[in-house]
Amino acid sequence: MSEKVLVVEDELALRETLAYNLDRQGYQVETAGDGQAAIDAARRFKPDLIVLDLMLPVLDGFEVCRVLRQEMTVPIIMLTARDEEIDRVLGLELGADDYITKPFSMREFIARVKAHLRRIRLIHAEISSDIPATSEQIRIGDLTLDLTRREALLNQKALMLKPKEFDLLFFLVRNRGHVLTREYILEKVWGWDYSGGSRTVDVHIRWLREKIESDPNSPSRIITVRGSGYRYEG
Ligand code: CA
Repeated sequence: MSEKVLVVEDELALRETLAYNLDRQGYQVETAGDGQAAIDAARRFKPDLIVLDLMLPVLDGFEVCRVLRQEMTVPIIMLTARDEEIDRVLGLELGADDYITKPFSMREFIARVKAHLRRIRLIHAEISSDIPATSEQIRIGDLTLDLTRREALLNQKALMLKPKEFDLLFFLVRNRGHVLTREYILEKVWGWDYSGGSRTVDVHIRWLREKIESDPNSPSRIITVRGSGYRYEG
């Protein structure tokens, strides 16, 4: 079964170009031209990945992302036209996994799509191999990670993690005790070479800490190793 990609873009020419190139890569593709159509298509088509333009008629990409995030954990790559939107996209009250700034090359676009789908496949492979079939959860101390739902519990209490924060936490926990450089984290968790990289990692680490280290009496879990990177303890 080939993987399914939903392309949401109101510019007809770009929408068709993206769909054509994804189709040539062997993906099943559906398209939508406005925000409401995107939500309907996502519910019906159940894509493995969504490419979502930010500026859309009816409902914009932010709104679409907000709605879909309450229903599904599918990776979402945002297409943005302006650099200044990036902080908001990455800020991801929204929960987008990634963004690409227009204009972009088709080669870069396909590489990103592949990287995200590969990451999801790896997570699924992880679920089916390492962990007993009855459980899709990993428990380390007071922390529980639910791999299928991409949810984390701390002391039985749900942490409201964005998808990328979950992936980052999962990666840190899996490699606990080891120092991980920002570059390594970026490559493994984001799955692509991004020039503004260390800042992305640092920002996500900060958000993660605010959620998992909120109790001032408990020891820190994510240790900053000066000049090197980060290490998870716990
Ligand atoms: Ca647009």
